[in-house]
Amino acid sequence: MERIYIGMGSNLADPAEQLRNAVEAIAQLPNSVFVGVSAFYQSDSLLPGQPRYTNAVATIETHMAPLELLDALQAIENDQGRERLERWGPRTLDLDILLFGNQLIDEPRLKVPHYHMHARPFVLYPLAELAPASLKLADGRSLEQLLKDCPFVGLERLPGLAESNQLAR
Ligand code: ATP
Ligand code: MG
Ligand code: MG
Repeated sequence: MERIYIGMGSNLADPAEQLRNAVEAIAQLPNSVFVGVSAFYQSDSLLPGQPRYTNAVATIETHMAPLELLDALQAIENDQGRERLERWGPRTLDLDILLFGNQLIDEPRLKVPHYHMHARPFVLYPLAELAPASLKLADGRSLEQLLKDCPFVGLERLPGLAESNQLAR
């Protein structure tokens, strides 16, 4: 079994509900065990003119192969109405594989660790709720170091999402 961290994001059609539905779908992935989900965080879009994003990180253990998991996550995105009209456009649901054990994956369809996670507070802070600070990325940097280099700016951790955490336990 490999430990996987999945970054989740939404800024359309009730983002918190989109993430809760995604957690339920992730919890039903085959050959996998659901481990947990972070709190939900809101932040302004990196691109102007889009609604605010809600983000979280979920973690599973799985026997699925990396591309098999990518296919399954893209199917969940599609089920929740994801439309790919423009790169980085607003979306009902984005599911990105952040880490796949400590594998380094460089395939046309799948790059892991996710190429931009180091610079995204809306990925690193929820990840830190689930992963140890000592967690090392493939390039040797620890999560603790990445957090130091990525201040908690522009993020709002949503209170009252205990129900989303209860799905995890
Ligand atoms: P960003 O990658 O900047 O977060 P995005 O998530 O909006 O952007 P998508 O439109 O969801 O980008 O995905 C574009 C393609 O990225 C997917 O079709 C997928 O094949 C590829 N991809 C590469 N690495 C990953 C990964 N680690 N997780 C998910 N998709 C990935
Ligand atoms: Mg993304
Ligand atoms: Mg994506």
